[in-house]
Amino acid sequence: MSIRRVNRFTQERGFVTAEGIKRVARARDVTGLDQAPAAAAKAKPVRHSENAERNLLVVLHCKAGELSTLDREAIYVARALSEMGSQAQVHTLVFGAPNPNLDWAEFGVDQLHVLADERFEHYVPEAKVQALVHLHGQLEPERVVFVESELGDSDLARRFAIAQGLSFGGDLYEVTDHSVRRLSGNGRYQASGPLPQVLAVQSGTTGDLDLEFVTAPNTVAVQGVDAPVAPEESLFSLPSGDIPLVEADFVISAGNGVANMDTFHRLAQLLDATVAGSRVVVDDGKLPRERQVGATGQIVKASVYLAIGISGAVQHLQGIKDCNTVIAVNSDESCDMIKRADVSVIADAEEWMQAMISALEGTP
Ligand SMILES: Cc1cc2nc3c(=O)[nH]c(=O)nc-3n(C[C@H](O)[C@H](O)[C@H](O)COP(=O)(O)OP(=O)(O)OC[C@H]3O[C@@H](n4cnc5c(N)ncnc54)[C@H](O)[C@@H]3O)c2cc1C
Repeated sequence: MSIRRVNRFTQERGFVTAEGIKRVARARDVTGLDQAPAAAAKAKPVRHSENAERNLLVVLHCKAGELSTLDREAIYVARALSEMGSQAQVHTLVFGAPNPNLDWAEFGVDQLHVLADERFEHYVPEAKVQALVHLHGQLEPERVVFVESELGDSDLARRFAIAQGLSFGGDLYEVTDHSVRRLSGNGRYQASGPLPQVLAVQSGTTGDLDLEFVTAPNTVAVQGVDAPVAPEESLFSLPSGDIPLVEADFVISAGNGVANMDTFHRLAQLLDATVAGSRVVVDDGKLPRERQVGATGQIVKASVYLAIGISGAVQHLQGIKDCNTVIAVNSDESCDMIKRADVSVIADAEEWMQAMISALEGTP
């Protein structure tokens, strides 16, 4: 692998068409300014894959029967890889029973393999590897795509690659027909290398989930493993407050406009969000230094960043450039944080937090 330092992303995002794709890359702008052409409203053509010469496999967990956006992205990446070269089938193995309303044809899945054995609802990584090895032996897929996520997906990807002696690439944010890229050093470095046999993709690998065709998927029930399956290791969830900021998915952040930190912490607890703050708040001793967001603090990559009473100074905004959705609560509608936000609330911080707490506690 070659490693080089990066200052900023310049990659363009690709998209799958009926003719094929050459590239899947992290979206430059998650707000959708850089959208691929909108799919026509008319019915999409159906892509049949009976004559496929190659297989691609995606491995997912259905949580409460549903798929996350990241799960959909993993299917999209496999679909994109299937378009590169001779015709290929995209197989998807899901652990857990999927909601029957999920539209696998729209997602681009050709064959759905469902392993709904309730024994697999526990943390049983080696049993899952065993089931996966069995399916892998049947399909002999060219590549296997996982998501980098909690709940064992990342862990399973690595265990499986080791068990099968396959090449592996994790934390991937860009996949092309011959190479991958990933970030390291808290986003300061990117590593690139050849396309591995087993891929674990990050959120944002592709910003577009819309295909120009649908598939005609078959569903196959997969047998688990014959041997007894017992939980092998305990899986504990950490309180959100203990999650390092760089790992946190939902961050609630206090600025100088937060007068009462007790109210702030109570709201954070009710929302189960990870606490952070601006440099002013940290300098005032209201939060520890490792909770500071910004150029001289932590760079966060949360799905949701809730900024309360933060002005949006350029040094602070540098710390949230990779957040998906920013919600700002501020009394000054002209401040830079409101301009940056996807959702804005113009309100007094204390009043708004109290109203949220009442709503969450169910008190009038
Ligand atoms: C070299 C350098 C590095 C820096 N690095 C960082 C860094 O890493 N991180 C960082 O955060 N800063 C950093 N700073 C500081 C940065 O420039 C700002 O001073 C700081 O981010 C401001 O913090 P703030 O928005 O919380 O406070 P303020 O600028 O005081 O803004 C408070 C905000 O709260 C709003 N407000 C006030 N009262 C209320 C209310 N009752 N209800 C709702 N809203 C209210 C105001 O409208 C305002 O927008 C750095 C500065 C320098 C020079």
